[in-house]
Parts: sequence; structure tokens; C-alpha cells
Amino acid sequence: MRELLSNASDALNRLRFEMVTNHNVLDSNAELHVRIKVDKDAHMLTIQDTGIGMTRDEMIENLGTIAQSGARKFLDATKDQKVDFAQVIGQFGVGFYSVFMVADWVRVTSRSFNPEAEAVSWYATGEDNYQISGSDMSERGTKIEIKLKEDASEFAEEFRLKNIIHKHSDYIGFPIYMGESSEAVNKQTSLWRTSRQEIKEEQYKEFYRQTTLDFEDALLHTHMVTDAPVQLYALLFIPAKAERGIFALRKEDGLKLYSRNILIDDYNKDLLPEYLRFVQGVVDSEDLPLNVSRETVQSSGLMPKLKKVLTNQVMRELELLAKTTPKNIRRSGRNLACI
Ligand code: ADP
Repeated sequence: MRELLSNASDALNRLRFEMVTNHNVLDSNAELHVRIKVDKDAHMLTIQDTGIGMTRDEMIENLGTIAQSGARKFLDATKDQKVDFAQVIGQFGVGFYSVFMVADWVRVTSRSFNPEAEAVSWYATGEDNYQISGSDMSERGTKIEIKLKEDASEFAEEFRLKNIIHKHSDYIGFPIYMGESSEAVNKQTSLWRTSRQEIKEEQYKEFYRQTTLDFEDALLHTHMVTDAPVQLYALLFIPAKAERGIFALRKEDGLKLYSRNILIDDYNKDLLPEYLRFVQGVVDSEDLPLNVSRETVQSSGLMPKLKKVLTNQVMRELELLAKTTPKNIRRSGRNLACI
């Protein structure tokens, strides 16, 4: 669920970004949301988003086969009963393919935002092949139909799904509806825009786990909400280890940059100096113009200001940490010298 909802959220984010500059978008008035439906008797779970969608070529390229995805190794590993599934998913970071842990078969039907593209369906059972065919889906976005295995029928229970969403996907910035309900299950407020007083320590930890798939807690985190000299929300984490694990979700250095809740850059490297490139997290500013593109954001005069504020904050936090807990850090083998 976490992986699929995170993909849906990415697809919605990408669509919202596209719509800033492109008006030729299919269903341009459709609400950006995710809808989950279950059929307990049929053991079916359906997750549908109104995001960017995929064309036939994109589907082949993105979903491909399990052999291509490297997930084969993962599924083989999960066959070993001694393995802790949740832990293995985290380690392998196989994204979409983790669905086959609970699925007999999966059908992904998608229609791209591009009005000329045709809807297409991809069907697979988790073996090394898949079928692709045309579809008559008329609305934009992606629908994932999952035929649950006998022993996974719990995922066709709304109560169970709601719990999972609260625990793992509450901060997703789009409404997640259940069944025909028009009331969202998730809170939707991004964690970084939530008041610090309302956030429990565990939520920061969970957020860090979700965004990085690092299963070790961060060395420290800092949550900034400032209005001057620039308006920004930032949630920054210093990982406990300098090196990124091979299964880490974040493939490059850089921070996620949002402008008014719209993701405009997944790996922005201009927000911190290079020597702080190991810092993970999110920066969101109302001051960035909305029509920014990934290219022009670099030349925006705001960037140096954001960089200064963020760098100062990180350095202050590190100094504080060095003053207050050097012994603990040395004892647990963590090495601040890398900084
Ligand atoms: P990752 O999300 O780490 O890239 P996944 O295996 O989870 O890897 O997904 C592979 C790709 O399939 C995604 O990068 C994305 O391009 C595409 N994809 C998956 N789910 C969706 C979706 N709901 N809408 C649009 N594209 C999707």
C-alpha cells in the first residue's frame, strides 16, 4: 500500500506540475485524488488515481517485467519463511513489484494526460512476462486492480486499509477516498506544513523512513517554519550513516523542493552547499513563483536566500549536537568527521 500510494502521489504531483504550464491536459478539471475500492468476496483491491497516467510505451518501460525490475531476487528472498517481509521490501526498495507479495494477478490500466494517447492495460501474475492490450478507460490516470491471494484477504478490508493509510501515508498531499466516500481518509497536510507542536517524534521518524527507506533513525532532524527573510517550510534530516545504502529510495543527493505544495524538483542541489549533500529532506516556499520550471528555479533570486537560511540552520544543529552529545555519537560508531 505504501509503495502504491506513493506512486499515485508522485503521479498526481507530476500532473499538477504539468498543469502549471500546459493547458492541453485530458480531464483538466478532474479533482486530483486517489480512490481505493475493495470487494471482499472477490478478494479484489483497486487503487485508482487521477494523476499523469502512462502511455503504452511508458507502461512497457516503467513496469516492464519482473525480471527487468530486479524484483525477482526480492521475491525469491521472500519465499524464505524466516524473512521479515516488511524489512525486505525496505531493503530491496522494489516499489511497484512488491504488490506481488499479496497478489495472484495485477492489472494496471492507465490513460495518459496527453489527450492524444490511448488507454492501455498491463496484466501480470508476477511471472517473467506480462500482457499488454488496449483499454476503453476514458478518464485520465492509473487504475491498479489487484486480485489478492487467499492469505492476503485482509487487504480487502476497509478498516485494515484505513489503519495502513494513517500509519504510512497520512501526509500524502492529495485526498485518498475509500469506496464511495467523499471524505478523505488521510489528513493530507504535508508534515512539513503541520505545526511542530502537533507532531509526535514517531511521525518524524516515519516520514524519514518513508522518504528514504533508511531503516536506521536519522542522527537528527530539524523542522523549520520561517517568514523572514524568506517564507519557508523545511524538514531536514541528517542520516546516521554518511553512505547511502544500495537500496535507498533517494538515488541522488539533493533536497525535494516544493513551491506551494507542488513538487518542482526531486533532487535540488542548490539549496545547500556541497559539503552538506548528505542532508535529506523537503523544502517548500510560498515565495517561489508558481510558474517556475526546474531550469529557471536555479536562476531565481530566492535560491541563494533559501540556501543561506537552510545552511545556517543545519550548521547550528550540528554544532549543538557536537556540544551536547559527542560521547554518545562516538560510542555508537557514528562519525561526525565526515561533515
Ligand atoms: P519507483 O516509483 O521507485 O520509480 P516503481 O517500481 O514503484 O518504482 O514504479 C515504476 C515506475 O512506474 C514509476 O517510476 C512511474 O514512472 C510508473 N508508475 C508507477 N505507478 C504509477 C502511477 N500510479 N501512475 C503513473 N505512473 C506510475
